[in-house]
Amino acid sequence: MTHGDDQGLILPPRLAPIQAVIVPIYKNEDERSGVMEVVERVRSSLAGFRIKVDDRSEFTPGYKFNDWELKGVPLRIEIGPKDVEKGSVALARRDMPGKAGKSFVSQNQLDQQVAEALSTIHEALYARAMEFRLANSHHPETYGELVDVVQNGWAYAWWCENPACEARVKEDSKATTRCLPLEQPGGVGRCIVCDEQASRQVIFARSY
Ligand SMILES: [Zn+2]
Repeated sequence: MTHGDDQGLILPPRLAPIQAVIVPIYKNEDERSGVMEVVERVRSSLAGFRIKVDDRSEFTPGYKFNDWELKGVPLRIEIGPKDVEKGSVALARRDMPGKAGKSFVSQNQLDQQVAEALSTIHEALYARAMEFRLANSHHPETYGELVDVVQNGWAYAWWCENPACEARVKEDSKATTRCLPLEQPGGVGRCIVCDEQASRQVIFARSY
């Protein structure tokens, strides 16, 4: 749920089959040859990464940007005639669409810049996932609260492990026990459903 936004998927850089896509930008054959020369040089300087060059000539750069965003590729490297002139490239972060996620860096030591960008994206996605988890986990005190909070999140609660109690939760809220957290509060508590003694907490949530 956290690995996406309105534009589709966002793949974590360490798992992404393609970590960065290079999109060449040119308007005519003249520009094309200069740009592709730099593209090839950049590609070989990034041999340590999983790189894809999108040289499909039947699509515009804008179409390609969109296409790779949908597929969740974490980083885009744009190379156009101005970059050929200036010795630069544009980096665009998938997790931060628009100008905010764009930076212009030198073609020299691009491998370091790409490594840094991927690690920044990794950290940002991780922080987002943690925030999401915190914002959506609840510790209800009563059965009524449990039924309420699982409509939009998950709930840590004591459970006596009697299947009848789980069945009642499912009946009332469509939530079931999803997992047994490794970290337990210790001691004993009272089952959130039947108030009998419970030795463990579980996570109740609805499946989607
Ligand atoms: Zn119970």
